[in-house]
Amino acid sequence: MPREVAVVGAGAAGLAAARELLREGLAVSVFEKSSRAGGTWAYDPRADPDPLSRDPAAPGTVHGSLYASLRTNLPRELMGFLGFPLAGRVFAGDPRTFPGHEEVLAFLDAFAEESGVAARVRLRAEVLRVAPLGQGQQGERWSVEWRGEDGVVAEEVFDAVVVCIGHNTVPVVPEIPGTDKWSGKQMHSHNYRTPEPFRDQSVVVVGFGASGIDIAREISNVAKEVHIASRYCQDRLGRVELYPNTWMHAEIDCIEDDGQVRFAEGSAVAADTILYCTGYRYHFPFLDLDGLTVDDNRVGPLYQHVFPPKYAPNLSFLGLPYKSIVFQLLDLQSKWVAAVLSGRVALPSEEDMLAAVLEDYRRMKEAGRPKRHTHTLWPEWVEYLDWLADQVGEPRLEPRHSEMYEKVIKCIWSLDDSYRDRWDDEEEEQWS
Ligand code: FAD
Repeated sequence: MPREVAVVGAGAAGLAAARELLREGLAVSVFEKSSRAGGTWAYDPRADPDPLSRDPAAPGTVHGSLYASLRTNLPRELMGFLGFPLAGRVFAGDPRTFPGHEEVLAFLDAFAEESGVAARVRLRAEVLRVAPLGQGQQGERWSVEWRGEDGVVAEEVFDAVVVCIGHNTVPVVPEIPGTDKWSGKQMHSHNYRTPEPFRDQSVVVVGFGASGIDIAREISNVAKEVHIASRYCQDRLGRVELYPNTWMHAEIDCIEDDGQVRFAEGSAVAADTILYCTGYRYHFPFLDLDGLTVDDNRVGPLYQHVFPPKYAPNLSFLGLPYKSIVFQLLDLQSKWVAAVLSGRVALPSEEDMLAAVLEDYRRMKEAGRPKRHTHTLWPEWVEYLDWLADQVGEPRLEPRHSEMYEKVIKCIWSLDDSYRDRWDDEEEEQWS
């Protein structure tokens, strides 16, 4: 009998995992709570009832965080799977090098069909609880409790569970003195869809990541003023030349008694809205396991961001790391998990895995990196991908791909979003 594996989530991670598990001859069931596969890439025009999305269990919460105009921030060449490229093919009529979200969703649909994964996906099947059948010993089987479309809750037993539920749904909102009494609007980018509601407003965008930059740029076309606040912009304070009506500030210090938003460098503005583009936190509502915690956004202990030593190999997590070529990372993590579950690749002992994790934590602390950055791969992201490739006998990352990725990061930070449309000409020049 093949070993039976439950995959939770049918986004890019769950689909990639299912393909590799099937290739290893394992029996796979993919549970997907929504009505279609694709995860984040299935654009959802709805927003949460609470614009700050404070309670992830609140009724009506939405999984996706994409905005309507979103184009990929990586070129097609970096958004394919091994043996199933996005480059050189068009799936939804958008041939641009940095396509819109519809193109990526159609790519994932085609991937699911062609790999035979689509037939293994159970839609509208929300996993409510995942627990080991015994005391949580290695090699134990797992109970999966799930609710179907009809509301009926069922329990099934699997040899292993692969958790692929993404981490861009539950917002991190910083605590800023004075916001509790402020009468203006506050929302998180999880609920941002279009710029129109910000027309003629003065908007403070908190955060300077890819989404913050994209959204600030989009809003600046309709808003009266946009003020970007970030602790990472100290050396570029002042007017942003590339955008209309936009200024860069240090982080927000507080909201003054008169309602003005005061920034750490001393300036203050009267704002209508504070829009937090401050990222997300890991959240696994169906897991309550002895010795596995989410603490200050560290999911741990996890060997190489995937296997909790105590429960390995039958429990694993895909897609946790940030700052890497996401689809290549998902592909390699999937191959590793599938090869381990089929018995083709061995893991170190529980003790050795735990020792490796604790050594990573020690090194992080020594380097002064905060706990919440545990799963941020930068700057060692290439080493991580190469390490995964070595585990499963795949070629290491092409130098051309790492150069492309690092170029993208620089382009994003330059605030000049026209890099997407200049890319092909520049690449041609560089490589010809
Ligand atoms: P998700 O896509 O989030 O999929 C998780 C799935 O799990 C969902 O379908 C969800 O419904 C399901 N699920 C959750 N809980 C349960 C449950 N209890 N039971 C059953 N199913 C469940 N990446 C790039 O490579 N390029 C980009 O340009 C890019 N841009 C991005 C822009 C934004 C605004 C965001 C938010 C992300 C972006 N990403 C980008 C990262 C993106 O998240 C990844 O590309 C990828 O979609 C992650 O896939 P995933 O499967 O890990 O998670």
